[in-house]
Amino acid sequence: MSRQLFVTTALPYANGNFHIGHIMEYIQADIWVRYQRMQGHHVDFVSADDTHGAPIMIAAEKASITPQQFVAQIAAGRKQYLDGFHIAFDNWHSTDAPENHELARQIYRDLRDIPQSQGGSLIERRTIDQFFDPEKNMFLPDRFIKGECPKCHAKDQYGDNCEVCGAVYAPTDLINPFSALSGAKPEMKSSEHFFFKLSDPRCVAFLEQWTQDGKLQPEVANKVKEWFTIRTNPDGTTSEGLGDWDISRDAPYFGIEIPDAPGKYFYVWLDAPVGYLASLKNLLEKRGQDYDAYMANPALEQHHFIGKDIVTFHTLFWPAMLKFSGRKVPDKVHVHGFLTVNNGEKMSKSRGTGLDPLKYLSLGMNPEWLRYYLATKLNNKNEDIDFNAEDFMARVNSDLIGKFVNIASRAAGFLTKRFDGTLTQSFSEQGSALLSDIHAAKDSIAQAYDAREFGKAAREIMLLADKVNAYVDQHKPWDLAKDAANNQALHQVCSLLINAFVELSRYLAPVLPSLAQAVQAFTGTSMQHWNATGTVASIQPYQHLMQRVTPEQLEALFEPPAVVEEKVTPGGEDIAPTISIDDFTKIDLRIAQIVNCESVEGSVKLLRLTLDVGEGRTRNVFSGIASRYKPEDLKGKLTVMVANLAPRKMKFGVSEGMVLAASHADGTTDAGIYILTPWPGAKPGMRIS
Ligand SMILES: [Zn+2]
Repeated sequence: MSRQLFVTTALPYANGNFHIGHIMEYIQADIWVRYQRMQGHHVDFVSADDTHGAPIMIAAEKASITPQQFVAQIAAGRKQYLDGFHIAFDNWHSTDAPENHELARQIYRDLRDIPQSQGGSLIERRTIDQFFDPEKNMFLPDRFIKGECPKCHAKDQYGDNCEVCGAVYAPTDLINPFSALSGAKPEMKSSEHFFFKLSDPRCVAFLEQWTQDGKLQPEVANKVKEWFTIRTNPDGTTSEGLGDWDISRDAPYFGIEIPDAPGKYFYVWLDAPVGYLASLKNLLEKRGQDYDAYMANPALEQHHFIGKDIVTFHTLFWPAMLKFSGRKVPDKVHVHGFLTVNNGEKMSKSRGTGLDPLKYLSLGMNPEWLRYYLATKLNNKNEDIDFNAEDFMARVNSDLIGKFVNIASRAAGFLTKRFDGTLTQSFSEQGSALLSDIHAAKDSIAQAYDAREFGKAAREIMLLADKVNAYVDQHKPWDLAKDAANNQALHQVCSLLINAFVELSRYLAPVLPSLAQAVQAFTGTSMQHWNATGTVASIQPYQHLMQRVTPEQLEALFEPPAVVEEKVTPGGEDIAPTISIDDFTKIDLRIAQIVNCESVEGSVKLLRLTLDVGEGRTRNVFSGIASRYKPEDLKGKLTVMVANLAPRKMKFGVSEGMVLAASHADGTTDAGIYILTPWPGAKPGMRIS
């Protein structure tokens, strides 16, 4: 029976170009889709750019363009990758498209307005405290708050975890927090947020069943199961298990405004998966098909291909949102691992180095080499796989070309030269038996494709190719060709080889669509249908179907990009003109102890420092460091001062010198200003030279 399949890949965040991890996922899904189509099933295969959220809003601001312009630039770069690797989505859309605004808002309304008779609303409003940047006038996402780690006291750590000691904490735990956007000290402000009540017993009961009834791979289902444990404490509070999900963000935010809540926007992860439906709806509208009728088809299967880093969103939030808004829930979520390159770097979302997909194409490397290589490595588990350059060359040159493509090149020349391209239909008993062996493997290879066991399918196909090559070696067409008396045997052997090659090409067609097309033109046989039958009557003159990969290409692929010479301005300004040592010694720098420090009434910038430079008296110095340091941070500390600077009369008194501090020239690139401190052992009055 023909299946109706709606297939998606994860939506890439539109703040950068594709990296090889994206391409792997798309190739995996594309192979599966092509296989299903060869079986006569109907597939709609869609994806879209994930466009919303604070990181894109901030990146656009930095580039002095609107977020819409920013994501449009990214979208314009997608096609070259998709076409380049023969990834045939039926539609590529955007989560900022009208369909997505409309669908996300409707799903939210449906969740909000669940009648009491059905358990009531699953949306709740709660007031939470959050850091607010008073200069940028916005609430700060965790990643945009920095400060001192509360555990190890490393400076400049993010609001959610410390990169030095690995501690995980709330942004409010940071010591001396500051906004990474403006450097300003954030204020604690309360704001009303909207929550999706994932901890509601209805959601929990639904998800406990949905996640465990075969829609997920067993290892994924087991992992998800752990998230359900311990929900209710003896005192009735819920502390573990499924927590409610904060789905709102305050303006300014690039996203979809929440209905009936001006200034409140959906958190990007609320509307991102809705983009699957929006892309499908857009596709159906272009075709003049009705979206609601399409989704109402009980036979429709909804399949999502995703990476293991976004399992929570796709196995908890997404199915629950769909279920309780009265929509169709996914039938399968297929989770894959990460791709590493040469046993090295993880191809996660944020770091896309190692194997540059566009560089691969620009070097003239065949996209189907990569498709084949990834196919040999892919299975239905969420394991990481590694791209290894040597292994790649061996699998492409020895297996794909040596064992498979060469079957055609070894037979075609004789058929064209000696038999005018015409094939015989009568084979020896041994030849017919070989073809039967190849036919007999059809179902098992089909099952492997359907189960996303592409590596297994490739192995079975290569085993068949081995049998064909053994037949070649036994019958040696090049020897038969030496004596005209063997003409009939030569014709039989070569005709058999072309027929075997056609069958193997069909088995590989989901992986190698372009090669399959060339085989179709060369032999006049259909590559569109998995169960196509019939023998080849004649061939066109043979043209090379695939070149070998060369070590030079692989070397060039992994050669680090040439360093672009850029004008570098350290700290935002050029190094000052050269001075002589005599010029330098005119400046008398001394270790000073800050014996007292206080804020200056009437000034937000200045601190008043009382410094001991070992002179038997103290000096009064004003310093513009109040944005960064509190008086109590500095009291008792040692620093460095210019001791022979002419005293300067200021609004608040006379400044008798200057303490040394570092800052970036533009004053905003990094957070403010840093005063110098000598290593332990230095004493007040010591001269610096
Ligand atoms: Zn730390």
